[in-house]
Amino acid sequence: MAGIYVHIPFCARRCIYCGFFSTVREEEAARYVRTLCAELVQRKDYLEGEQVSTIYFGGGTPSRLSPEQIGRVKDCIERTFGLDSLEEFTVECNPDDLNGQYVSALRSLGVNRISMGAQTFNNDMLRFMGRRHTAAQALDAVHVCSDSGISNISIDLMYGLPGQTLEMFRADLETALAAGVQHISSYCLSYEENTPLQALREQEKLTPAGDELCAQMFSLICKTLREGGFEHYEISNFCKPGYRSRHNSSYWDGTPYLGIGAGAHSYNGHSRQWNPNDLDAYMNGVEASNPQYELEHLSVIDQYNERIMLTLRTAQGLNLSVLTPQDRLSVLNSAHAFIKDGLLLFENNTLRIPESHMFISDSIISSLFKD
Ligand code: SF4
Repeated sequence: MAGIYVHIPFCARRCIYCGFFSTVREEEAARYVRTLCAELVQRKDYLEGEQVSTIYFGGGTPSRLSPEQIGRVKDCIERTFGLDSLEEFTVECNPDDLNGQYVSALRSLGVNRISMGAQTFNNDMLRFMGRRHTAAQALDAVHVCSDSGISNISIDLMYGLPGQTLEMFRADLETALAAGVQHISSYCLSYEENTPLQALREQEKLTPAGDELCAQMFSLICKTLREGGFEHYEISNFCKPGYRSRHNSSYWDGTPYLGIGAGAHSYNGHSRQWNPNDLDAYMNGVEASNPQYELEHLSVIDQYNERIMLTLRTAQGLNLSVLTPQDRLSVLNSAHAFIKDGLLLFENNTLRIPESHMFISDSIISSLFKD
């Protein structure tokens, strides 16, 4: 099985914290859609005959495209790869782009999952972050999706926002639970280079949330969502039983995926490649049948380190039976002190990070890497 990721880089305007590749040049959308279809054909052999089981339109803001444009790309995927095995079709949407007609049109294309960047339900915070929508619009959008027959709705929530207290974040979590969504992704705000948010920080015009407060917020998410019937299946991802994101899970379990569009990444088991974070370089290259991309062949050590990094982010952890006897010994040697201190659990031949230490997982995981 394999996944297809389609990057739609258009945004109506830029949020102040955003470090993703996106652009406000929406007038290029029609040409971009044609380029996506051309790239699909050019890369028809990339998945080596694997059946496509998930499609994910991410961004940017895919809901800046019309349903017809999304449908054109989906048809092209179908003609090129076949979609007989399709299980999950996700489109990321901005709440204020959604209405019943739009969501029904997506539904009739086969979209069965919508992911929305709600981020917070505090209107002052939304305004400060440069989001286009209000809290009420995000909640309305959830209802529009469910009324239009989408029964798998995910929202993103951010924490560690400047000025956000634990009580404010608790209110966000309670609102999210009351909205009745099936999936919640929650990320700590990061200060990315060359963003207006980072500039405000450098000018000391805001006070970033401290590590201790962020750790408390992470604990609060785990507790509140567990009590709300959610399972915590990856560091930043929580879902009602049966609603794990299949597409994102494939990133963590080593399933191959083809990423098309400007800035999109692809992985086929032995290499990773990525398209340029530049709209013109991407479109000109594909149009001239001379696609621009960077390619990294993964060495045996790279593959080992990736497996450690990706599996230990998940609640399932790393099953040592997939490793060679030598690698098994090596990882157990590196993990020994962490197991002794309770930072790693070793049960049923599987290593995993307990929820209580997931917030510091990066330092645990990197200690297990090979040089
Ligand atoms: S909508 Fe998303 S991709 Fe676009 S600027 Fe905001 S955070 Fe970035």
